[in-house]
Parts: sequence; C-alpha cells; structure tokens
Amino acid sequence: MIRLANVSHDYGDRSLLTGVDLTIAPGAFNFLTGPSGAGKSTLLKLCYGDLTQRSGEIELFGQDLRSLSRDALADTRRRIGVIHQDCEFLDHLTLRDNVALPFVATGRAVPDDDLHELLAWVGLDHKADALPPTLSGGERQRAALARAVIMSPEVVLADEPTGNVDWEMSQRLLSLLIELNRMGTAVMIATHDLHLIRTAKSQVTTRTLRIANQTLQAAGSEL
Ligand code: ADP
Ligand code: ADP
Repeated sequence: MIRLANVSHDYGDRSLLTGVDLTIAPGAFNFLTGPSGAGKSTLLKLCYGDLTQRSGEIELFGQDLRSLSRDALADTRRRIGVIHQDCEFLDHLTLRDNVALPFVATGRAVPDDDLHELLAWVGLDHKADALPPTLSGGERQRAALARAVIMSPEVVLADEPTGNVDWEMSQRLLSLLIELNRMGTAVMIATHDLHLIRTAKSQVTTRTLRIANQTLQAAGSEL
C-alpha cells in the first residue's frame, strides 16, 4: 500500500534519512521507533505525502507520489488516516464536528448513526457536544483517533499517539488500534515507548522498525 524505495530526506544542509526502504502491507501492524529527533515524524510525513522526498521512490497505493496531481493526492490521502503528534482541533467546533471534518471536506454529510457509533467506540459519545479546549489529554487522543478513521482508511499512521497520556490511557489507545488492525486496517505507530511495543507484541503480530544513523533497520534485541 505504502512503499518507499531508497528514500532520502533532509531539511537543508543536514541529512536526516538515507536509503530508506519500507513497505506497509495491507493489515500489517508496524512500530517505528528511534530516539527523539531521529526522523520518525518526517518518515510518517513522507508516507502520507505531506513531504516530498529528496531522492528515491515513494508509491502510495501503486502510484508514484510525485506523479499525483493535487486532487489525486487529496483522494489518496483519504485512504490514509493520520493521528498527528499535536492532535490539533478547531477550538470553536464541537468534538462531533471536529471528528466529522475529514468527511465534510468531501462535500458529503456523515450519517448520524455512523458518527455516534464511532464516538461510542472511542468512549466519547457523552462528549460529542464538548469543545476541544475542555477535553483532557486522553480524550483529545481518542478524538484524534476517531477523526483519523472516519473515512475508513486502509492504513492508520499514528505519531506518538500515547505521548501525553498516562499508562492506563496508553493501553486503552493501544487496544483500540489493535481492534482496528484486527478488522483489517494496517497500522504504523511511531513511538519511543518500548513498554508499549512489548505490550502490543503480546497481543498481535507486530514488526518494529528503528531509525538509527539515518537508516531504517529491523529493531533488535532491546525488545
Ligand atoms: P522525531 O519524530 O524522530 O523526533 P522529526 O522527524 O520530528 O524526528 O525531526 C527530525 C529532525 O528534523 C529534528 O532535528 C527536527 O528538528 C528536524 N526538523 C523536523 N522538521 C523540520 C522542518 N520543517 N525544518 C527543519 N528541520 C526540521
Ligand atoms: P486527565 O486526567 O485525563 O488529563 P483531566 O483531569 O484533564 O483528565 O479532565 C478530567 C475531566 O474533566 C475530563 O472529562 C475533561 O473533559 C473535563 N475537563 C477538563 N477541563 C475542563 C474544562 N476547562 N471545562 C470542562 N471540562 C473540563
């Protein structure tokens, strides 16, 4: 679905990623780890076409990222759900409207039942009318997950989805992502939380990739 071949990227003079090969297969559960500043967020951005690589090839659903028109890229991105690290919301819109936003952007209305079901799944149906500034960290993360999956994407990319929540909430978010994966959605989670990775490994078949020295490697025995 997402394939990077010999991809390199930098911001200006400092090289960040070199010769990265990555395939995200349908239904796979991947972790992406590595120290802060290693380039995890950058790699995720390359995976959903938010950045254009310096060199190498990126294919999204069989199409060369650089050959996609703006419209085609927008369509392609709807097949990829993204949970951003900062979980930004429009503060003047209710949680319900924020979650529905990707759907509304396509010019269609979200069926009420679907939205209700989705909010119930993440345990936020009672918060549907709340404004984002009143939500707790864990509630924001779960709302971001709901927003990421409202278009029924084939793959979900999550950037430190448990970065700002306590362990119990991390487990809850992980459970939701595992459930999503069991229903067939591929998942890739960027995290430096090795405890979270170990917990996932006991429940689902996962692969862990690590960015070290600008390259992407299979994670070793530290797990
Ligand atoms: P990670 O997610 O592993 O912490 P990032 O991909 O966020 O790593 O960042 C990798 C490095 O690239 C960091 O040193 C960061 O400061 C730098 N960086 C990220 N985005 C930009 C940008 N837009 N312009 C310049 N440098 C950036
Ligand atoms: P957490 O321990 O998960 O960070 P908080 O203590 O921040 O949770 O919030 C607990 C509950 O209080 C949540 O349901 C949250 O939505 C609600 N809440 C937090 N801040 C506000 C606020 N300013 N106005 C209304 N509700 C709030």
